[in-house]
Amino acid sequence: MFNLILFGPPGSGKGTQSEKLIAKYGLKHLSTGDLLRSEIAGGTALGLAAKSIMDKGQLVPDEVVIGMISSALDNNPDAQGFLFDGFPRTAAQAEALDKLLELKDTSIGVMLALEVSEEELVKRLLKRGETSGRSDDTNESIIRARITEYQNKTTAVADYYRNFDKVVMIKGEGSIDDIFNRLSKEIDERI
Ligand code: AMP
Repeated sequence: MFNLILFGPPGSGKGTQSEKLIAKYGLKHLSTGDLLRSEIAGGTALGLAAKSIMDKGQLVPDEVVIGMISSALDNNPDAQGFLFDGFPRTAAQAEALDKLLELKDTSIGVMLALEVSEEELVKRLLKRGETSGRSDDTNESIIRARITEYQNKTTAVADYYRNFDKVVMIKGEGSIDDIFNRLSKEIDERI
């Protein structure tokens, strides 16, 4: 089993690259953003509570996303490995994920962190907002709040995995295929 974290700020290409990576490596894609959006679409109490936080560009509470990931791991007993996208975003989430994986006798193989400049991120997200239907992609101040939230909270996640020598920084600008090749090279070295 090979598990990886695709890390990076909003707009860094995690969704696009995840699609390609799961197809190539047969991984199960777990995106907490997607899971939350399906709760919203389903009109659940969890979705309702999460929406007001997401609309401000802030992070939903750790226990909410950890619970969703725990259920998703249990619901996919036959997976060959997981690609975590947008999770973990805090040190507490990273510690919880390690414990959940340990219960399944597995662990994180690598964290691949996409690096993209802030101006490029804002440009990409505003463009995505024209078609994505995501309310958090249409307003520049919410976009900047999400990037700031990422910078404030997520450095701790990279530091956490750096302690285990599991972080690789990847240039997230250039063509989709070039970025995909950079990511694949790092996975191939470890799988
Ligand atoms: P994303 O689709 O990953 O950009 O996530 C969209 C929004 O969902 C974020 O701005 C957060 O409000 C929320 N969210 C997604 N993943 C997490 C997470 N791991 N921890 C806390 N909030 C999250």
